[in-house]
Amino acid sequence: MPVITPFDPWKSKLCTCPFKYSFSPYVGCSHGCLYCYASSYIPRFSEVRVKKDIIKKLNKEISKIGQNKYVTIANSNDPYQPIEEKLKLTREALKIFSSHDFKIMIVTKSNLVLRDLDILKKSKAAVSITITTLDENKAKRLEPNAPSPEKRLEAIKILSRNGIPVIARIDPIIPLINDIEIDNLVRNVAESGARHIVSSTYKVKLDNWGRMKKEFPKEMKRVKYLYFKKGEKINGYYYLPQEHRYELMKRVFDKAREFNVTFAVCREGFIELNSGKTCDGSHLIQ
Ligand code: SF4
Repeated sequence: MPVITPFDPWKSKLCTCPFKYSFSPYVGCSHGCLYCYASSYIPRFSEVRVKKDIIKKLNKEISKIGQNKYVTIANSNDPYQPIEEKLKLTREALKIFSSHDFKIMIVTKSNLVLRDLDILKKSKAAVSITITTLDENKAKRLEPNAPSPEKRLEAIKILSRNGIPVIARIDPIIPLINDIEIDNLVRNVAESGARHIVSSTYKVKLDNWGRMKKEFPKEMKRVKYLYFKKGEKINGYYYLPQEHRYELMKRVFDKAREFNVTFAVCREGFIELNSGKTCDGSHLIQ
């Protein structure tokens, strides 16, 4: 199994990402986000495992890639798992991608990324920080083991001050859970230095729905008909009705424009709302 693979969001027609490779030293993720999609297709997802001989394999495969040198670390988990602090495999991989002149997009919820500022500053890199709520209690329920919203905002500030382009992923927006926070979230990430915002609405998989229903029974009872009766099924995911999704994305778009931050939707289909040159913010990588 190769360790550097072309990014393939299940061949989704709604994905507008540029071509990129995907890499992670780990399988699984310990953050425990209730809405996680990856847990529906990766067994024992909460148990983080290290991929065997990962650095050796990376060194071998990377020399064969001559063009389209753009990699996202990572797409199906967070590359800054707590064990990364000790193992430093993401750090090692960063050095390797950087020395091969790759454009690098880190996608994380962890302020541990700050440890690698020294490498990021010398690389063609950007960091995408996901933040879904500013309410510490809600974050503890929604993303129980992930770093707090405060730490993520702090990471956005420090990275930005150090000249690393930061993308904020306000993703997913979940009706009755964090949709009321849209204005506040946009204001906070913009004031912290994010230059591009990516957003999408929560898509239901039966696996994440079970977790959401258990933790937020009243709210999920109220939105159930929106997903399962009025909504649509796309690529195996239950989506909110189109007009509802558009309204939520437009609210993020409008607020982002007010703060002079570019915006893009992720797998929603409303590309007329995309105001950046790329949806994932990779145009910011110099
Ligand atoms: S950080 Fe991402 S991969 Fe990890 S549990 Fe949360 S949503 Fe899933």
